Amino acid sequence: MGIKDNLNKLLDKLPENVTLVAVTKTRSESEIMEAFNSGHRIFGENRVQELVDKKENLPEEIQWHMVGHLQSNKVKYIAPFVKLIHGVDSLKLLKVINKEGRKNNRIIDCLLQIHIAEEETKFGLSEEEVVNIFSSPEIKKMGNISICGLMGMATFTDNREQIRKEFRQLAGLFGKLKDEFSEKLPCFGELSMGMSSDYDIAIEEGSTMIRVGTEIFGERNR
Ligand SMILES: *Cc1c(COP(=O)(O)O)cnc(C)c1O
Repeated sequence: MGIKDNLNKLLDKLPENVTLVAVTKTRSESEIMEAFNSGHRIFGENRVQELVDKKENLPEEIQWHMVGHLQSNKVKYIAPFVKLIHGVDSLKLLKVINKEGRKNNRIIDCLLQIHIAEEETKFGLSEEEVVNIFSSPEIKKMGNISICGLMGMATFTDNREQIRKEFRQLAGLFGKLKDEFSEKLPCFGELSMGMSSDYDIAIEEGSTMIRVGTEIFGERNR
């Protein structure tokens, strides 16, 4: 099966309220164009340099999402065009995104990354940290960012019950924050969770946005 078939098969399965971000890291421009030519427009990268290079060489209509960890000093390269930043994990990074948004005369949509996995290595905020960010006086003054929801990555494991538990915990926090801060954060509505190996569980647990690479483009070599 080719990229087009994989993509259509996946899209057929998705509930209407779930957005697919096709993750294109390590993929060639011709592979991406295969997905583009079958009608897909939302693509994600996890490295700034790769995102910038692909943005330059591929069609203007593509909506580029930054899905990986983002360093403050690299925000400026993607600020002019990025559609959604999934992995924001500090107030400091939000401030930088806001500053770069202002320079570009844009409001940049962001998701806050929450730490749900068991592994120490995964990035993300705790529940307490995210509440502190929303409650901070500084956030009100940031006119060039919009916090549109949360993102999380489950533990890398075959234990599907554990993955489900982690996604459920994230969805619970998402619902709670939505209730608590809906006036402050009118656009807060996206829950980005689920990759090739676990998007089915993520959708059952309330995901609105899945980030899938391997299932569309095949195994990565690097
Ligand atoms: C690579 C990547 C994905 C997609 O992973 P697959 O297993 O290939 O579907 C999703 N999210 C992030 C942050 C990634 O880096």
